[in-house]
Amino acid sequence: MSSSTNFLLAIEDLTVSFDGFKAVDSLSLYVDRNELRVIIGPNGAGKTTVLDLICGKTKATSGSIKFKDTEMVGMPEYQIVRTGIGRKFQTPSIYENLTVFENLELSYPTGRSVWGCLGFRRSEEVIERIHAVADSVFLKELLEVEGAFLSHGQKQWLEIGMLLMQDPELLMLDEPVAGMSPAEREQTALLLNRISADRSILIIEHDMEFVQRIAHKVTVLHLGKILAEGSMADIQHNERVQEVYLGH
Ligand code: ADP
Ligand code: MG
Repeated sequence: MSSSTNFLLAIEDLTVSFDGFKAVDSLSLYVDRNELRVIIGPNGAGKTTVLDLICGKTKATSGSIKFKDTEMVGMPEYQIVRTGIGRKFQTPSIYENLTVFENLELSYPTGRSVWGCLGFRRSEEVIERIHAVADSVFLKELLEVEGAFLSHGQKQWLEIGMLLMQDPELLMLDEPVAGMSPAEREQTALLLNRISADRSILIIEHDMEFVQRIAHKVTVLHLGKILAEGSMADIQHNERVQEVYLGH
């Protein structure tokens, strides 16, 4: 067995090249179970591309992405989701004309035909799950409210909730607190700390105050490569990081 066996996610020597330009360049990255990892780095560093590669939206040029010891490179996106990887894009994509309840209900991952005659039990189970998830994303009082009437922050929470309905073992979020109020950021930090108790989270974030609150470990990406990796304190004291990123 390889040394990567104990990691939930083990990325090795991953490269993607767009017309000869390596947006991600021989990247190796390992994420533990129940770890909350933050990726930071200047614009164009390759952060979003790393998430695109993991969820199968972008095809790797070379290298390996092992999730629970299974190779994800070459697997279609829907199958990667089923393996247990949930990904949230930068802008919220909820159904504005459906209620919070309905948005969450739609995200429950069971094919109806599979359950067939168990329909009644299924719906009880789903309802229970919707309530639990709505509670964890601060929306339990708003279950009957349509998406369009939520604040920007509440929409972001709803989308996190929609991902939680699928109970992913790895949750990936791209700048989830951009555009949120300070109070919403604080609540989001609580939320992420809480949900990382039963899953791993990979987040791209710019807000360093927020990163400080949530990160178990920080990876700094620059020109598609890892510039530094460690605790927030390690990163803050790293001279190369200060030069390329924090110094701006
Ligand atoms: P970040 O999220 O760190 O700001 P990105 O991962 O979005 O950076 O982009 C990294 C680099 O790769 C940028 O120079 C971007 O223009 C380029 N890039 C990203 N996706 C594509 C693509 N599909 N085709 C061509 N170039 C791309
Ligand atoms: Mg990005």
